[in-house]
Amino acid sequence: MDEKNILHLLSSIQVGIAKKGYTGSEKTTRWLNICCPFAPYTHASKTDKNPSFGITIKDGKPSSYKCFGCNKKGRLSALPSILGGYRKKDYSAQRLWAEIAETKSAASIPLPDWENSGLTINYSNRHVDPDQTTPDSISDAGYGPAVGLRYLRERGLTFLDVLRLNLRYDNHSKRVLFPVYDAYDKFAGFTGRSIQAERYLHKGNPKVKDYYGLKKREVFLRLRGKQQGKKIISEGLFDYARAVSYGYLNAHAILGTAITEEKLDILIQEADPVYLFLDNDLAGWQAMFGVPDKDGKLDTQQAWAFRLYKEIPVWIVPYPRSLTGEDPGGIKAKVIYDAHIKRAWFFTGKAPVDLLGDPLNTGKT
Ligand SMILES: [Zn+2]
Repeated sequence: MDEKNILHLLSSIQVGIAKKGYTGSEKTTRWLNICCPFAPYTHASKTDKNPSFGITIKDGKPSSYKCFGCNKKGRLSALPSILGGYRKKDYSAQRLWAEIAETKSAASIPLPDWENSGLTINYSNRHVDPDQTTPDSISDAGYGPAVGLRYLRERGLTFLDVLRLNLRYDNHSKRVLFPVYDAYDKFAGFTGRSIQAERYLHKGNPKVKDYYGLKKREVFLRLRGKQQGKKIISEGLFDYARAVSYGYLNAHAILGTAITEEKLDILIQEADPVYLFLDNDLAGWQAMFGVPDKDGKLDTQQAWAFRLYKEIPVWIVPYPRSLTGEDPGGIKAKVIYDAHIKRAWFFTGKAPVDLLGDPLNTGKT
């Protein structure tokens, strides 16, 4: 693990590094030496005045620790659990983070505690208008709040929306970050949308990137807690953000179009009527109603509307013209957005071939 990640890990498990030193060299093994965090439990004097606790610094490889005072040693990624055992604290999230960080040097940005990250922001500008000012240092504090981003303003999102959506910003890879909560409202990770222009995007820098193995199959992107109002289901991060901005606090993004049993289960368990407001393109149509097989017959097994409508009320939110490629995130005014929702029609098991032109005959599946 590199030094930056080691220091982050130590601070995340409240291991002070008031006194530190280095031994070894780049050529052999480099050690970071600190006071032993086990000292209250394992050292006769209950403290460690010398930095007896050494940690190997190894970029992109697992680090280990060893105390020359009490002889405790092991893999650094296991330190959170072992120390947590002594302190009676649950450091399992920190352990998971350490395991990822030790194997991936790419995990150079620490996984923040979402609720606390981004609060220690430095502004050099004394006159702080959160909607106009960009913080000077956000990388030091994990992920800063996504304020002052022209990108968000261009998409009609205000500072209030940023707070409501609890967004953060990854300054390192230039992404607006959205927190994701599981069916039990537990923080499940996050996903980030690049604010860079299309031409900078490629396989290694995709438009939407999930962080630290977010289990996308099992979660929706939605606000934490039970929300009131129409359950608007869209595809993308900004479809969801836009819906929330317009007051549809029960908006969900399905994070892609793929249907999963886990997601169906959440919707059926919660038993709210759903409003499917997917992209106005062939992929959106097929995600709702199914993919035609080679004889032109719809395979509805992977179709949201068909899988849900016998269990819960399903409404389809229409567009004025079919398959024009719009998405709900692109709708620029609340009145227009509301008009779409108002025109939603109740799904009774018939794919709307007439209503939406003839997607069955567009050839590609
Ligand atoms: Zn020790």
